[in-house]
Amino acid sequence: MSDYSIHILEYCYLNEIPNAALNYGRHNTGMAKLPFCYILLRGKDSVALVDVGHNNSEQMAKFITDFDIRNWRTPQEVLSPFGIKPEDVQHVFLTHAHFDHMGGLALFPNAKFYIQEKELSNWIWTMTLDRRFRWLMGSIDTSDVLKAVELARDGRLLLLKGRADDILPGIDLVPAFDTHSAGSQYVVIRNDGQANSSDTWVMAGDLIYQFSNLDGGDEKDPYYHPIGIANGSQEKLIFAMHDLVEAANGDRTRVIPAHEARLSERFPTREESNGLKIIELAVADCHQSMVMA
Ligand SMILES: [Zn+2]
Repeated sequence: MSDYSIHILEYCYLNEIPNAALNYGRHNTGMAKLPFCYILLRGKDSVALVDVGHNNSEQMAKFITDFDIRNWRTPQEVLSPFGIKPEDVQHVFLTHAHFDHMGGLALFPNAKFYIQEKELSNWIWTMTLDRRFRWLMGSIDTSDVLKAVELARDGRLLLLKGRADDILPGIDLVPAFDTHSAGSQYVVIRNDGQANSSDTWVMAGDLIYQFSNLDGGDEKDPYYHPIGIANGSQEKLIFAMHDLVEAANGDRTRVIPAHEARLSERFPTREESNGLKIIELAVADCHQSMVMA
């Protein structure tokens, strides 16, 4: 019994990022390719996303060049295998405001967006600081922050002050303050709808980038190895990682890092002709698999 179909949708990739950015302190260990994704949650009569990726607009051009981002595809194209249009997306749970998670706000014209109040207000505060603090603004496109405020004015952005259970039936939003960003949050899907679910999936946002963050690359004697990019503290990140695993009933494999290039090794996957992957985590009772024949 599954209430939601859950699919990770690649929409572009970052060609090369140092492993040290993904695993704190692992210098001189080479580079990795980083897929950029958003996550589709389809219920019986709801369509939701976790994050919206980024827009390929002119103001994003600097990020696209600086980060060497390739093979960007429109949400029309990314969603088309599901027979869904961007206009059909009703809810978007924003894990945080970095450009590759919140830069696509304008691409989903009918959606209602949910973000932690601390995430948005902290970025506005950061924007007011002297130029010498600009490292803090890495991965933030200020026009996304302005767009979010516009959406708030228009009644399409909900600012959450802490945990929000059953934001949709069986879906909880949980903050992890002062970690990757000031108001990062993760999404817990109790896919049997039970309060004490035994079928829980956890969408980690950027609290982890890869499986290796949860086991340190040591599956036999795992430890938490934090990501290399945090405006908050590594200690808070480590305890947030433990919370992710606890939320998944102790099952690390149910905690999903959307930037992990190896998701397709663990879960049924189909690769589209445009080179992008669709990774299937769960199929609701009312849907069919997108991967299995
Ligand atoms: Zn991020």
